[in-house]
Amino acid sequence: MRTKVIAGNWKMNKLLGEAVEFVEDTKSKVPSSEKVESVVCAPFPYLPTLVEKAKGTDLAIAAQNMHFEESGAFTGEVSPSMLKDIGVTYVVLGHSERREMFAETDETVNKKAHAAFAHGLIPIICVGETLEERESNETMNIVEKQVKAAIEGLSEEQVRASIIAYEPIWAIGTGKTATSEQANEVCTHIRKVVAQTQSETAAEAVRIQYGGSVKPANVDELLSQSDIDGALVGGASLEADSFLQLVEAGAK
Ligand code: PGA
Repeated sequence: MRTKVIAGNWKMNKLLGEAVEFVEDTKSKVPSSEKVESVVCAPFPYLPTLVEKAKGTDLAIAAQNMHFEESGAFTGEVSPSMLKDIGVTYVVLGHSERREMFAETDETVNKKAHAAFAHGLIPIICVGETLEERESNETMNIVEKQVKAAIEGLSEEQVRASIIAYEPIWAIGTGKTATSEQANEVCTHIRKVVAQTQSETAAEAVRIQYGGSVKPANVDELLSQSDIDGALVGGASLEADSFLQLVEAGAK
């Protein structure tokens, strides 16, 4: 059985006090279960404080991005070793907002995935198609290309440990969730691509999340699908109660 991963992606939201309050409210309530991992992806300035607050609990703290280089003249960037050093465990890579607005490419996502593993961080690698691509029946090709590029050169062990988040861009922040069948169809395809390019063992182990307007009302249905192993959640992860409902769904 694959352990489900429910990750709240706060994006560029909350002030420090609100972030701390959220962690204080949820850290002892997230399920302590083999069935689910609970993760909060917070803005950079809050990471050290939140890691400290969540220490010894079942709530993991993640970053929303990082650079692939170790150190140097990269003004405004944060390195994998900095994240590791402060106790971050997961890092979101290649979110569609970063691909669309901050020039992230398949190539940089792959470099970042290698850098994450080199520093003991688990990458949450985001892939997904635009509405236009879906309407022109390009979804499978697009997602296949993104997955292959992202995991290129990773070892079997690294692919097994990776998390891939399938997030159709038209479903992010729009209230339009993919149906559970649509979501599962793509997640099944992603697993097939991993089997073909890496191995059956890696495909069996890799965790594939769905993301895009996930909320307490639709999470059970999505998580009941054969190839959906969790959710990457924006809007509905901002309130503690809603986040707790999502992680509880993951522990069922
Ligand atoms: P949403 O965002 O849940 O608000 O649609 C998901 C994401 O971008 O990860």
